[in-house]
Amino acid sequence: MFTDSRIDIAETELAELERALAALGHPRFHARQIVQWIYKRGITDFGQMSDLPRELRTHLASDFLITTPIVERMERSIDGTTKFLLRLADGKHIESVFIPDTPAQTFCISTQVGCAMKCAFCLTGKMGFDRNLTAGEIAGQVRVLAQELGLLDRRFNIVLMGMGEPLHNYESTMKALRMLADEHGFGMSGRRMTLSTVGVLPALERLATEPLMPNLAISLHSTTEEQRDLLVPINRKYGLKELLDACRRFPVKRRERITFEYVILQDVNDSPEDARRLVRLLHGIRGKVNLLPLNEAAGIPFERPSDARVDRFARILSEHGVTVSVRKSRGRDIRAACGQLITESPNATTPGKRLAMLMGT
Ligand code: SAH
Repeated sequence: MFTDSRIDIAETELAELERALAALGHPRFHARQIVQWIYKRGITDFGQMSDLPRELRTHLASDFLITTPIVERMERSIDGTTKFLLRLADGKHIESVFIPDTPAQTFCISTQVGCAMKCAFCLTGKMGFDRNLTAGEIAGQVRVLAQELGLLDRRFNIVLMGMGEPLHNYESTMKALRMLADEHGFGMSGRRMTLSTVGVLPALERLATEPLMPNLAISLHSTTEEQRDLLVPINRKYGLKELLDACRRFPVKRRERITFEYVILQDVNDSPEDARRLVRLLHGIRGKVNLLPLNEAAGIPFERPSDARVDRFARILSEHGVTVSVRKSRGRDIRAACGQLITESPNATTPGKRLAMLMGT
């Protein structure tokens, strides 16, 4: 079988690339130039990296490659939200979403093909887990979106809220964030990155010790152990109480807070009592609440509450001193909203295809 022994620069951090160049007898500083070409100018053809010595360019072309996800389809919502269907090197598909002016330009990035968490209201969860993304595939989504949208030299935010559970793919996720933070590339600060998680506790505790710290968002969704066991099944392993204790210990920077995401489901978790319980649970945590009125979809057995009910819930939180916002649903007309990312590959046996068949679409 043919195996490619070339080094994929999409998967390397600067220090690894420096070592690889040095091992081949090239000066290390060329690594910085290569990173600049790839991230700042979107150039992945070594021949075009005109400030590198000719001999190095030839060497790069024979011993290295730069794998980049391919845009297979782009769909633009009436609100400007744009969904990208990307094809990976092994033919699998993921989705990434561009959400303009919220107020920043934001890229919503996937960390896995599918998801293993099976949250009861999420379509990606219904699709099941296929595989982890590599660090290069995670950072590669940012490169592709920035290039396609003409934002390579602009500031943007990323939220790890696409397909997958980032803390279920810890190593690759953190490596991708380090690559995105590299000053020779995008130079993103942790404050422009948000990691959203259901709360995989050992990984959350490890995150607390990282030098590069993204903003943290916790998908809470429920105020009792019994109900969260049903809505967010990993709660059976890492319960609500332990999760909130870990949040209390989490090193939150000055002037920053943990965001608690709460999908509101009609007649399930939207009562005034739920709101008051949420206030009590969050006591002593530097947090704020982001309410997500459910994005409905075929196959999801819940309903979106009326705006009046969402407002009533929000009002109770704010009357008790909890900062609360309601997430405006973006891109619903192109199924790019939270929990709606699901992909089908041409292969008829994929989980996405099976689900589409089950749902009769
Ligand atoms: N796995 C991570 C990140 C992905 S989802 C996590 O769960 O946090 C980003 C957010 O969208 C999560 O809070 C998720 O619970 C929410 N979500 C999922 N399905 C949704 C739906 N149908 N309507 C609204 N929000 C949804």
